[in-house]
Amino acid sequence: MREINHFIGGASFTGASGRFSDVFNPNTGEVQARVQLATAAEMDRAVQTAQDAFDGWSSTNPQRRARVMFEFKRLVEANMDELAAMLSAEHGKVIADAKGDVMRGLDVIEFACGIPHALKGEYTWGAGPGIDVYSMRQPLGVVAGITPFNFPAMIPMWMFGVAIAVGNTFILKPSERDPSVPVRLGELMIEAGAPAGVLNVVHGDKTAVDAILTHPKVHAVSFVGSSDIAHYVYQMGAQHGKRVQAMGGAKNHGIVLPDADMDQVIKDLSGAAFGSAGERCMALPVVVPVGKRTADELRERMVAEIPRLKVGVSTDPDAHYGPVVTAAHRAKVAGWIEKGVQEGAELVVDGRDFSLQGHENGYFMGPSLFDNVTPEMESYKEEIFGPVLQIVRAASFEEALHLPSRHQYGNGVAIFTQNGRAARDFAARVNVGMVGINVPIPVPVAYHTFGGWKRSAFGDTNQHGMEGVKFWTKVKTVTARWPDSELEHADSSFVIPTMQ
Ligand code: NAD
Repeated sequence: MREINHFIGGASFTGASGRFSDVFNPNTGEVQARVQLATAAEMDRAVQTAQDAFDGWSSTNPQRRARVMFEFKRLVEANMDELAAMLSAEHGKVIADAKGDVMRGLDVIEFACGIPHALKGEYTWGAGPGIDVYSMRQPLGVVAGITPFNFPAMIPMWMFGVAIAVGNTFILKPSERDPSVPVRLGELMIEAGAPAGVLNVVHGDKTAVDAILTHPKVHAVSFVGSSDIAHYVYQMGAQHGKRVQAMGGAKNHGIVLPDADMDQVIKDLSGAAFGSAGERCMALPVVVPVGKRTADELRERMVAEIPRLKVGVSTDPDAHYGPVVTAAHRAKVAGWIEKGVQEGAELVVDGRDFSLQGHENGYFMGPSLFDNVTPEMESYKEEIFGPVLQIVRAASFEEALHLPSRHQYGNGVAIFTQNGRAARDFAARVNVGMVGINVPIPVPVAYHTFGGWKRSAFGDTNQHGMEGVKFWTKVKTVTARWPDSELEHADSSFVIPTMQ
């Protein structure tokens, strides 16, 4: 059985915990490898290695660090086919989507290539007589990222791209379900010229996560995953004196106003609800048509559209989406469908019995469509994270606005309309962190910033963009006085200095 090792200090590191997690091939249901699960002592070794690399890396000038990022970007692009194939084989997303996963990560690396500009700080000449004030952003030290299975390339790059470019050294604890791409990214970072120990990849489960959260030499932790664990990471990290940002789950709504371009809406909804088998935190699993006529038309057209979707193995270039990640996850999604039925929602299309000929043991699910879902239902309140679209009918714009605003999650939301005034009003008033106007998956570009509200994110800074730079640095502000003459001594002052 192939074993996936840690990557510490620029080299493959074989752990000795004797604990492993199986890595499945979701297309076939076979175990294709097993990944090591680190002990706290192994995590400590990685942190020490990162600590040893910190002085050299943080004192490397920003332009040189940016050159490593440029080279890393070139290498990732040169290895795109290999990375996408590796990603698709462990996650199950189709190859084109796997490439998108890598490319969205590279957007953040591109942002990190401009880090000298982002680190320039602020300067005030003459804040008082002979007094200048300036600020600088300094790296924190050893920092860590803990990532989910659903974007094994993009989310690690969101984190380490910015964290490393600003001068930190990094421990990545990727998902144990698809760990190969993160290791390969670690290797490419070293090949790009980062000194050994700048980017380390340590696999593991709760033991490894707790070792990060309690380690005195880890100064900041970025987490992306499900909300309960995000909340735990946030509390535990803060309790141990760390800076923490922890992104959680989601239940994004797509609001469809009566004047929306329905042809486009159907196309957008199919991709956003069922793409990547619905395993995206920015998927659109809830659609809210406003008014009966809109709802009836939308339902009828979705029912007609669903049979056109091709579910296939992740290497099939014609497949719209592949299998879900594990058998356990498929059972969980099927359980939510059953729950929806029990709660009285109308299951219009049932994808549970789908089986792909020749791949009967793969974790495939057909698309499912519910109508007449209501806000009281558990299956509406919770995240399903599978190829399931729920129609929640709203009688008015206000009712539609309140649904995502009052939902426990607040990651993304989209509105489909041709009415600019309604869209503008919606964007300003909705209680959600990222809004799309006729954009079904409103993931902001890398130089803006990504983050949800409510139970979708704990902490107060977002991923990437200038918010990322802020999260991964601390500000130092210097007040300097250079009097006109050496004879000009100021008297002792016993009151707080002012600039009067
Ligand atoms: P998950 O919470 O199961 O795992 C995330 C990470 O936490 C993994 O590295 C995992 O090893 C670790 N972990 C698992 N159990 C743990 C425990 N008991 N204690 C400590 N650490 C533990 O999430 P997942 O299933 O890998 O990913 C899917 C989830 O991530 C969904 O809820 C999705 O919405 C969310 N997500 C959110 C965003 C966002 O930006 N808000 C982006 C992508 C995914």
